[in-house]
Amino acid sequence: MRMRKKAWAEPFLKENADFVIEKPEIWAGHWREKLACQRLRIEIGSGKGDYFTKMAAMNPDEGWIGIEKEHNVAAVAAKKALAQPHEHMALIAQDADQLSSWFAKGELDVIHLNFSDPWPKSGYAKRRLSHARFLKQYEALLNPQGQVIMKTDNPKLFEFSLTEFSRENWQLREVSVDFRRQPHPEDAITEYEQKFMDLGQPIYRAVWQKKA
Ligand code: SAM
Repeated sequence: MRMRKKAWAEPFLKENADFVIEKPEIWAGHWREKLACQRLRIEIGSGKGDYFTKMAAMNPDEGWIGIEKEHNVAAVAAKKALAQPHEHMALIAQDADQLSSWFAKGELDVIHLNFSDPWPKSGYAKRRLSHARFLKQYEALLNPQGQVIMKTDNPKLFEFSLTEFSRENWQLREVSVDFRRQPHPEDAITEYEQKFMDLGQPIYRAVWQKKA
């Protein structure tokens, strides 16, 4: 997600360094203590933060960490999160390429991928957040029952992801090609999801669990 440059974004992210974690590697293995939680979830590519801020409010006993590389966008998410009780939340305003150094092996319960950039040209496939090079990192960071939950509007990205997870021997636990046909009050609607729902487009969703 690209946004016009916001002059306040960089200073705001720095001023709130207790929430926007500049050196996440320091907390590897200690996120549960930091966020005073039992279960730990991350959202990679959290955009303006609607999903993880709403889900954190709905699940105050869980730890929620948003990861967003675009600082102008991350600053909007930070503002949103800081306006609500946020002791069990954090934001990492960096590229998820470094994910493996930020968390200990087995530390995560759930990884959310919501409306990830599709990178349609095959030459950029490695940048997709469901590419095997990311799945190998997710596998190491999730606990044995850990899950990746993906939502997307993009059938090609969905198909690519189903194939990629299958090739990497993940178990497909749930799959839907029209997730919002039924009400799902337990699952917050993201900014992008709302746009596609308003256009009447189906939302694809899948849940994968690590191989046994
Ligand atoms: N998840 C939000 C939603 O559903 O409304 C935003 C979706 S937007 C299409 C994808 C977001 O992922 C963008 O804001 C982009 O900057 C971010 N992103 C893409 N690749 C990323 C990466 N490797 N690390 C961190 N953020 C990333």
